[in-house]
Amino acid sequence: PIYLDYAATTPVSPEVLEAMIPYFSQHFGNSGSNQHLFGWEASDAVDQARKTISSYFSVNPSSILFTSGATESNNLALLGLLEEQTPGHIISSPLEHKAVLEPLAYLAHKGWEITYLEPNSAGEICLEQIKTAKKSDTRLVSLMWVNNEIGVINDISSIAQWCNQEGIYCHTDATQALGKLDLSQAFLPDLLSFSGHKIFGPKGIGALYVKSGIPLKARQWGGAQERGLRAGTLPIPLIVGLAKAVERIPHLLTFLPQIQVKKQDLENSLKESLGDSLIVNSISENQIPHILNFSIQGVDWEKLFRCMPLLAFSNGSACNSKSTFPSHVLKALGRDNDTALASIRISLAQPYLNEDHDWVKDYLVKSLEKLIS
Ligand code: PMP
Repeated sequence: PIYLDYAATTPVSPEVLEAMIPYFSQHFGNSGSNQHLFGWEASDAVDQARKTISSYFSVNPSSILFTSGATESNNLALLGLLEEQTPGHIISSPLEHKAVLEPLAYLAHKGWEITYLEPNSAGEICLEQIKTAKKSDTRLVSLMWVNNEIGVINDISSIAQWCNQEGIYCHTDATQALGKLDLSQAFLPDLLSFSGHKIFGPKGIGALYVKSGIPLKARQWGGAQERGLRAGTLPIPLIVGLAKAVERIPHLLTFLPQIQVKKQDLENSLKESLGDSLIVNSISENQIPHILNFSIQGVDWEKLFRCMPLLAFSNGSACNSKSTFPSHVLKALGRDNDTALASIRISLAQPYLNEDHDWVKDYLVKSLEKLIS
């Protein structure tokens, strides 16, 4: 099948793979071994990677912590900052990834009060809503920079600036923003999470940016790695790969206009041929060009997913062994269960530009026409 699921994950780019290979078996040292050359080589590679990543964001190298990915970064940010404080108030949104919603649910269990701002039908949240929701004991605002299902962008720089003025901590899950928006000049919040595998880097590596002075506490204890904030031997090949992927972000950003054209073309063709059966869910003016999310009304979701075996896309349902749930994001936008279940997320990226776009469009449109007829 043709891959249309780049928001789920991306392949490791050849440049990233090439940078990683020597660190698997040639330079295999432990960066914590400070007695010999093997260790020094490894720790030099980590230092260099930290510099590359921090210089992309124009921040201090010491403010970048390596983690296993955005899930861990989000957990460390939220629990490492708040779990040991007396409970107060947090502002977030129902559109967040589970890797934010679940740690927040844990904090709620520990006595924290959480306000989930209500997005409009395009998934947008504005600063005014945050101002209104603010309470005297609001300690943190946590909002994603870009939503992974519908691609809507939050104005995190403005939100972070306001939080800064108000003395409220600000965290963002930037997993879907990195490589799709230029964050290099942006005003950053106090804490920012991301993963390598969404930007053509390896899986199992990510980072948390922690602004200096933020009183983060460890949530995993052991060795003194990562300033004592994240114990465990560092995965040098993955770290080198993450840095190479970050270094190549300016290159990724050059493809945005072409990706926008392809996505818009798919969307227009679907609108023309499916009429009222089509509900586009990714409708904000303010969204990344990579994601097209739509529902087909009145069709059985299982039939919908089976009707296009030659395309690999994602759907708006979450399954476990017992049942299938509609996407919590589409539900929060006001979609009913059936519409939320019968949804498809197509997410594009630069390698798609080498695919036969007209064939994909034709196959997509014809398969769906057949389904609704
Ligand atoms: N946050 C967002 C917005 C995501 O899209 C993802 C990946 N689907 C994650 C967090 C989790 O990333 P990882 O699985 O790499 O920890």
